[in-house]
Order: sequence, then structure tokens, then C-alpha cells
Amino acid sequence: MKKKAAVIGYGGMGGWHTEHMLKSDVVELAGIYDIKEERRRLAESRGIRAYSTREELLADPEIEIVTVAIPNDVHEEVCIAALEAGKNVISEKPVTLSLDSLERMIAASKKAERLFTVHQNRRWDVDYLAMKQIHDSGEIGEVINLESRIHGSRGIPSDWRGEKEYGGGMLYDWGVHLIDQALMIFGFDVKSVRCTFDHITNKEVDDGFRLYIDFPNGQEAYIEVGTYNFIQMPRFYMRAKDGSAMITDWREKCRVAKCKAWHESDVVPVQTAAGLTKTMAPRDSITVDEYEVERPHSDVHDYYRNFVRAVDGKEEQAVTHDQMRAVLGVIMAAFKSAEKNGARVEL
Ligand code: NAD
Repeated sequence: MKKKAAVIGYGGMGGWHTEHMLKSDVVELAGIYDIKEERRRLAESRGIRAYSTREELLADPEIEIVTVAIPNDVHEEVCIAALEAGKNVISEKPVTLSLDSLERMIAASKKAERLFTVHQNRRWDVDYLAMKQIHDSGEIGEVINLESRIHGSRGIPSDWRGEKEYGGGMLYDWGVHLIDQALMIFGFDVKSVRCTFDHITNKEVDDGFRLYIDFPNGQEAYIEVGTYNFIQMPRFYMRAKDGSAMITDWREKCRVAKCKAWHESDVVPVQTAAGLTKTMAPRDSITVDEYEVERPHSDVHDYYRNFVRAVDGKEEQAVTHDQMRAVLGVIMAAFKSAEKNGARVEL
């Protein structure tokens, strides 16, 4: 039987959750609550029940799962209230704004004996899954480093995301997704980070950043979020001992160049700009195989399918508390590093 679920916050992402719940094979949408009356009326106009207060929603004994999709600064208060009301809770990312706050949320879930997790939906991104598959399969050998970028050109949105008090900024926004993806690939044990911020269209919060994450085995992830890039750089670029892989953007397949013979008998120098080069001359098919990787299958609703099975005690929740601590730990260290102009911060 489907579990009844509700959404607190009926803005952009609350709408996304309700749409997915309406089509779900595992949850049934009980309704929503939003502090703004106009959002509650909008939900009703779409045939969705709008509870008139948060208390009314949390008092509904049929609701087992509550998804919280409100600005970042109020996740803690609302998630804890939902846990204390006996609900299993999914918080939207970044989960919350500090490690102390996260510990209070985890403690509330333990005390209430209810599940608590964060919506890391981008673990189902096909571009990320293709890079993870290449890393895990070892098909181009041991991975040296990964570059993960997302570029836009409209600055940071002019809503709460542009204000510090609401937990704005790109590190908490896209950053949390890209950090989680990198840690899913390289592991959740991070050695150190270095980070610098952009403040191009917004002085109060970061409207872009460059973040290096170093792992104990020497692997490195570089994450870059830009909101002032009128030409986009590739979404992913990976270097490994036996080749390279690249995805230009999420509509494209992953391109792989696999080195099958390191030594070349003869390299013909090429003319580049005002000079000749042998070092940078492209390889040919005698030493390198080039191919595309099929996009992996992915269904983002598996996030909810897992959560429902976890509520029933049948499997572990996909995004664990330790993973949430590790990702938020990287974010906190990145803030510290940016304050020190990109100095290395050990974790
Ligand atoms: P939004 O501004 O579009 O919507 C937020 C809604 O919350 C508004 O309708 C507002 O009235 C309501 N609200 C504010 N405080 C509330 C409270 N205390 N109780 C009830 N309702 C309240 O913002 P959004 O883009 O939907 O973002 C919401 C959350 O979703 C954020 O945490 C954001 O980081 C996250 N998000 C996640 C993804 C993702 O892909 N996982 C994408 C976008 C946003």
C-alpha cells in the first residue's frame, strides 16, 4: 500500500515534489502547507489539499512522510517539528546551514525513532552516473582527478538565494549537489579543501565558487559553479591513468579516449598558432581508442522508493547521516578556506 506523504513549502521545488508524488507508485500525496495563502490557494486550484496550518498537517495521523521544501534557514525548525510529530522527514538540500544544526536534526530523528534524510536527487543525474560508472569500472584505469562544472549566465536568482540570512549562495545551492556527487565517486573521507568565491553580481553571498577537494589516496575533485559564464565549459572532465573522459553537457553522451599504447613510433609535429609542437600533437587510432558511453538508466523516483523501503525497515536510506555530515563538513571547510583567500583547510 502507498504511504501518505505531504509537502511543506509549495514553491518551485515543493511543486516538483507534489508532481512526482501524484504519479508515484509508492507514495500518495495527502496535501501541502505553505505559509503564503496564495500558494495554498494555487495548490487547491490544482486539486491538491492545502492544510491551513503546519500544525494541522502534522496532526494528520495518516501522513507518514513529510518533505520539507522551504528556504534553507528554516529547514531545521520545520524538520524537527515534523519529526517530533512522528513523521519520517525528507529535508530539501543543503539539509541545513551548520554542522551543529545538522546534529540537532539527527538527534531529533533518533529521539523520535523516525527517519530523517536529505533530498540528494542529483545522485540520479545521468551525466554523473556515467562518470561514476567509468570511475568504478576502471575501464580507463585509476582516476587521477575529476572536474565537475556547472555554468549559467544570469547571476544568482534575486530571491532568498541571494541573501545570507536565508542560507543563500551557490555553495549551499548547486555546490551541495556537486560535492555529494564527487564524494559518491571518490569516497566520503576527505583530506582537505581549498575554495575561492565569486561576488560578481552579489556581494553578500557567493554567486559562484571554485573548490578543490583532496582525498587521502591522492585523488582530487575540482568543483566549479559559475553564474556569470556566457560560454559554458564541459560539465565533467576526468583524467585517469589510461585515458580521459568528458561530458560537454547533460544532453550529451560521455566521450572516452582510451590509451591502448603509451609509446608511439613516430609523432608528426603539428603547426599550432605561431609555432610547431610534437608534445601537444593529437594521437591517432593506433594508440588511442575513442568511443561514446551509453547513458546509464536512471529514474529519480527511486529516491522515494528507497525512502519508503527504509521506513519499512527493508533497506538503509540512500543518503545516510554520515554522508550528510561529510558533505556539510566540506561546505563548512570551503567557507573557512574562502575567508582565507583559498588557503588549504584540513578536515
Ligand atoms: P521557493 O522560494 O520557490 O519556495 C519556497 C516556498 O516555501 C515558498 O512558497 C514559501 O512561501 C514557502 N515557505 C517559506 N517558509 C516557510 C515555512 N516556514 N513554512 C511553510 N512554507 C514556507 O524555493 P524553492 O526553489 O522551492 O526552494 C525550496 C528548497 O528546495 C530549498 O531548500 C532549496 O535549496 C531546495 N531546492 C532543491 C532543488 C533540488 O534539485 N533538490 C532544486 C531547487 C530548490
